[in-house]
Amino acid sequence: MPTYAEIINRMKCAAAANYDEREAHSLALWAVEALTGADRVQLLVDPHREVEYVDMEEVERVERELSEARPIQYIIGTTEFCGLQFAVGEGVLVPRPETEELVRWVAEECPTARRILDIGTGSGAIAVSLAKLLPQAEVAAMDISEVALDYASRNATANGVRVRVVQGDALSDWASAFEELDVVVSNPPYVPASDRASMHRNVRDYEPELALFVPDDDLLRFYRSIADGATRALLTGGALYFEIYEGAAEQMIEMLTERGWTDIELRRDFNDKNRMIRCRKR
Ligand code: SAM
Ligand code: GLN
Repeated sequence: MPTYAEIINRMKCAAAANYDEREAHSLALWAVEALTGADRVQLLVDPHREVEYVDMEEVERVERELSEARPIQYIIGTTEFCGLQFAVGEGVLVPRPETEELVRWVAEECPTARRILDIGTGSGAIAVSLAKLLPQAEVAAMDISEVALDYASRNATANGVRVRVVQGDALSDWASAFEELDVVVSNPPYVPASDRASMHRNVRDYEPELALFVPDDDLLRFYRSIADGATRALLTGGALYFEIYEGAAEQMIEMLTERGWTDIELRRDFNDKNRMIRCRKR
């Protein structure tokens, strides 16, 4: 059997075609953890130990896929979000760390919420994490994509929570299926289509376009439709939380103000980018 260091090095070389040195190293460790079951501390403390068992065909597959810039989360089929494990694969967005901040904001401000809806749930990251953090709440998760809904329900079950998974279109009359909600939360597609060219290959070539992009001349298309539906589906005083495009904060505040939303608050993420907004139904 090879040593851990040998496999780490193979993974690192494969990743180096697509990532800088630091990132290639971190992806290599991540891959080897998944392949061998060793934890990161073991890998760093004693890398020259021989591996007890590893499937060499799997080593070759992971190596090849890293060299093709497939996201590590798809390669190993799972990712961590809010301390929970989520199955992910092609057809579903890999949940991002900034979205954890949105989840924590909702959980902090709405500890007694009874009914929560997550629109554009993808892997179910937001809905499942909220169901875990707020066990008294009934959580529903909506998406237009069947692949996403399938991941979301598997992830709810795997994490031991109940989430009502519903197919729906956020751009049409979605609100007729919901009433008396305390919270609506959404991380909808918001990347301007013109950003596509400058995005990393691992996003551009692998993640679903349906989850990411909006036309440059209509960046708020999801937010307008979600806010309008939420006006009907939320209880008075109910809260609406969005993850937003960093360049759209002003437009968002203007749009929500015009529509009569109150208590509007903008927050930055850990990268110091305007990233989330909360408002309430008057
Ligand atoms: N909530 C997940 C997260 O934060 O990781 C996924 C967010 S992803 C940015 C946006 C999601 O919106 C995708 O799962 C996509 O399938 C879904 N979506 C795209 N168009 C939609 C539509 N018209 N109606 C409902 N959901 C839609
Ligand atoms: N933040 C994600 C990215 O840049 C996109 C999330 C979204 O479109 N809502 O890849």
